[in-house]
Amino acid sequence: MENLNRSVQFVKGIGPKKADKLGRLGIYTLKDLLYYFPRTFEDRDITKKIVELQDGDKVTVKAVIGSISNFSPRKGMNITTMVITDETGSVKISFFNKAYLKNAYKSGDSILVFGKVDKKNNRVEMSNCEIEFLTNSPKQTGKLLPVYPLTYGVTNKDVMNMIRTAIESEEIAIGEYMPASVVEKYHLCGIDYAIRNLHFPKSKEDLKIALYRIIFEELFILQLGLFIFKSGRTEERGIRFEEKPGLDEIIKSLPFKLTKAQSRCLNEITVDMSEEKVMNRLIQGDVGSGKTAVAMLALANCVLNGYQGAIMAPTEILAKQHLESFEELLKPFGIRCELLTGSLTKKQKTELLERAKNNDVDIIIGTHALIQENVEFANIGLVVTDEQHRFGVMQRGKLSLKGENPDILVMTATPIPRTLALILYGDLDISIIDELPPGRQKIESMAIAKNKRDKVYQTLIRDEVDKGRQVYIVCPLVEESELIEAKSAVELEEELRENYFKDLRVGLIHGKMKSSEKDEVMGEFKEGNIDVLVSTTVIEVGVNVPNATLMVIENAERFGLAQLHQLRGRVGRGSHKSYCILIYDSKSSVCKERMSIMEKTNDGFKIAEKDLQLRGTGEFFGTRQHGLPELKVANLFKHMKILKLAQKEARYILGVDPKLKLKENAGLRAEIIEKFKGVLEELALN
Ligand code: ADP
Ligand code: MG
Repeated sequence: MENLNRSVQFVKGIGPKKADKLGRLGIYTLKDLLYYFPRTFEDRDITKKIVELQDGDKVTVKAVIGSISNFSPRKGMNITTMVITDETGSVKISFFNKAYLKNAYKSGDSILVFGKVDKKNNRVEMSNCEIEFLTNSPKQTGKLLPVYPLTYGVTNKDVMNMIRTAIESEEIAIGEYMPASVVEKYHLCGIDYAIRNLHFPKSKEDLKIALYRIIFEELFILQLGLFIFKSGRTEERGIRFEEKPGLDEIIKSLPFKLTKAQSRCLNEITVDMSEEKVMNRLIQGDVGSGKTAVAMLALANCVLNGYQGAIMAPTEILAKQHLESFEELLKPFGIRCELLTGSLTKKQKTELLERAKNNDVDIIIGTHALIQENVEFANIGLVVTDEQHRFGVMQRGKLSLKGENPDILVMTATPIPRTLALILYGDLDISIIDELPPGRQKIESMAIAKNKRDKVYQTLIRDEVDKGRQVYIVCPLVEESELIEAKSAVELEEELRENYFKDLRVGLIHGKMKSSEKDEVMGEFKEGNIDVLVSTTVIEVGVNVPNATLMVIENAERFGLAQLHQLRGRVGRGSHKSYCILIYDSKSSVCKERMSIMEKTNDGFKIAEKDLQLRGTGEFFGTRQHGLPELKVANLFKHMKILKLAQKEARYILGVDPKLKLKENAGLRAEIIEKFKGVLEELALN
């Protein structure tokens, strides 16, 4: 497939201007273009005779033009009408602002028209029409029309035409890379056929065949990559950690008693740690289930054995919070904890790195800064990744490279059904904390339509503040742009200070603030010096302020269910009754259903499952799940059967050829290296 890595400008007819448009969709290479699949199809493949037309039909008609006329009801508006005829009758068709048609077509031309039928009494018309000359290969009518995801200034026709040009260009060969044996065994169509029919299927049957191939391919590559990743790391021996009596002392000193689920989970960890094989364990526990304490105890166990430990968190706020709770509980036992984030001064950082290298610090708590190259440890024994879903497989892998086969613990609050967890995190053992600490109250959730937003601000929020509680308000999610998101937070905060809450203490926190500023605001909020905190999703994970009892989420329809659940988990952390208000601005039935799920259940597992059903896995894992190849068509939930086949075949192939070195697997190997962005090769394919 190598020639597919060339720029889209290689295609005749795609110059710099069109390439620029494609760039806006993230399409740069020929391969990007060919793999830019439609999000759905418009059924234009139903063809009817004029006499058969029914009101509301969206159909294609084959006919001859009788007459054409043009008129302009007012300035800037132009209507073209034609009367067209077939052997069964005639119908009037109309076009909006397409005056050029009058010159392009003439009476007597044979044409195909697609449009919506409007039939009342004896009058039959078709509006919003698409027209083209009758040929053997119509482009706009009489077929399934691909509907592509678009962006501002790029039309569906643009994308469709460019893809068509590329596909029809003779120099472009879409070469097969799937081993012939696999193609045959699973009755897959060839890649060339699949790509062509995913864009321009001749029939629904062809589309189905093409989809099957691509779904299989996506899941197969994902599974192969994950298996290889796993095999690259577990072959080696790890550290044996003994169970030291000191650990029990620390547990006894905690301000609370561990829940049964926490104890069980900790036990699974210490057993793993005492064995020679490298621990690879995922802790899955709903928001607020107390994962941090378990991680801290595992790290303490490591330090008591004379090794260092590290824990990586996705945000500075969270890392800092961990540091505070770790220090409070571990300092009395002489365990030294330090914070490593991007906002240390150069001098502080150098000092800390020196100490890490000289074993002068026991536990380092940090952000992504932890996996940078210059970070070295004297003898790291355990690495923990908090909120694993915010990091990729690769980043998790990198942290473990900081030592000689350290044990690995990852934690996530984005619960996914166990079957899926095993596939996605197939390289991990799983512990589940399925119990919340005692005394937690159910968070009451209410979905409120945007037109009633005033009431939320004027009464609900105020009531909570009057009771002495604190409130979070989360701004609309702006995918891919922290800057716009930050801007909307700034505006909302202004609106609140100037309108609703002149007399309250309103704070603001967003991702574009310096981390020292964020810390300051978070500190003030914790201290109770801020009543209402306006925030972006930077507070999505982990933040713990027990006096905050109300979470208001603006434009809740833009968030995934799992994310809403995470956000909601910021309240209900103390003994007071807590609430979550979801302000939504959409009339779609999917939105209503999602809001009602949030109102009805507090169970993160159920929510995640629904999320998968409603949105598909691509979005569920989102752009944040870096490192795993994107699933464009496959859905881990819907396509479980195909997934199982792909899994079986992946096992079989790797059983014969673990590093994919055989000639017939060369194409697969290249594809996996590309999809897993080179890291697999570094870790496991050599
Ligand atoms: P998460 O699993 O979402 O990371 P945290 O570890 O942040 O949850 O814990 C949430 C809160 O519950 C913290 O304030 C923590 O101190 C408290 N907590 C943890 N375990 C227990 C327990 N066994 N009993 C009471 N409170 C607990
Ligand atoms: Mg946590």
